[in-house]
Amino acid sequence: MGQRNVILARVLGFDGWSVIESFFENAAGARVRPVGGYDLLRDTRLVLRVRSRWLPRCSGCGEACRELHEYGKARRWRDKAWADHPVVIEYAPRRLKCETCVAHTVEMVAWADPQQRQSRRLQHQIAMECAAAPLSHVAERHFMSWSAARRAEAHAITRWERTRTPIELRQVGVDEKFLGRRNKLAEKFVTIVSNLETGEPLWIGPGRSKETLKGWLTTLSTADKQRIDLFSMDMHAPFALAVEETEGLEHVVIVHDPFHIMKRVGEAIDEVRRAIFFRSGPEMRGIGRGKRWLLLRAWERNSEVQKGQLRMLLA
Ligand SMILES: [Zn+2]
Repeated sequence: MGQRNVILARVLGFDGWSVIESFFENAAGARVRPVGGYDLLRDTRLVLRVRSRWLPRCSGCGEACRELHEYGKARRWRDKAWADHPVVIEYAPRRLKCETCVAHTVEMVAWADPQQRQSRRLQHQIAMECAAAPLSHVAERHFMSWSAARRAEAHAITRWERTRTPIELRQVGVDEKFLGRRNKLAEKFVTIVSNLETGEPLWIGPGRSKETLKGWLTTLSTADKQRIDLFSMDMHAPFALAVEETEGLEHVVIVHDPFHIMKRVGEAIDEVRRAIFFRSGPEMRGIGRGKRWLLLRAWERNSEVQKGQLRMLLA
């Protein structure tokens, strides 16, 4: 192994793997020889042919296997870019006779999960970028199709899900989202259920009816239901009804989140202001109808303690 390949293997960073050859390739797959004074095109990729220095391991169980079944064909994996140039790892995984799995399995590689075409760290990077930018932009940045980027993201999230400690759900947020007019879906809204303590969305269902939310509530076990303390939702009545009608959730408190309360209060105040500025006399009678006023009417029914709490909130 020459000094250059030693450095490349060090940068690549997988113990037990050495680089045996490296070359540039253009987008069409033809080899490119860099010429002094000219930059390589941005989509020129660096191909690293690697070799395993250690005993192969089974990708099914992770055990070391001494018995070889056959040599496999060369395969390629996309890795994280080096100085903006795409990097491809090329290796021919061997087929093994695994004593633990009692089957012919494929050799494990250090950089990727079985049946994946990207390295774990590239999938991780794509998932992180997708959290901050549209998927189409991320796909473009990595010279990938939209669906390949989506699959990479989904795989990284699944892997992360497997390794994290499960979080107990105690406070549930329920909200609806309008999908916009420009779609041909039967439902124009989706219902989103989230964990209020972590801010994570847990479930999405089409529609915003009582039955929609019940579709999620029925997936909860008795123990799950007992752990839940409260539901936070807007003033959309079907959601509250779905919770109230579900067995095992009699103890939960339903609260309306400050955002929706403040929104309604703001709308009511705006309406009064508009009425004062633009209307006079009998036309003033038109105001004070509709949902936004329900909150203020409820004020009359509140106890002194509740009124005090609401005053604090509005302050
Ligand atoms: Zn095995």
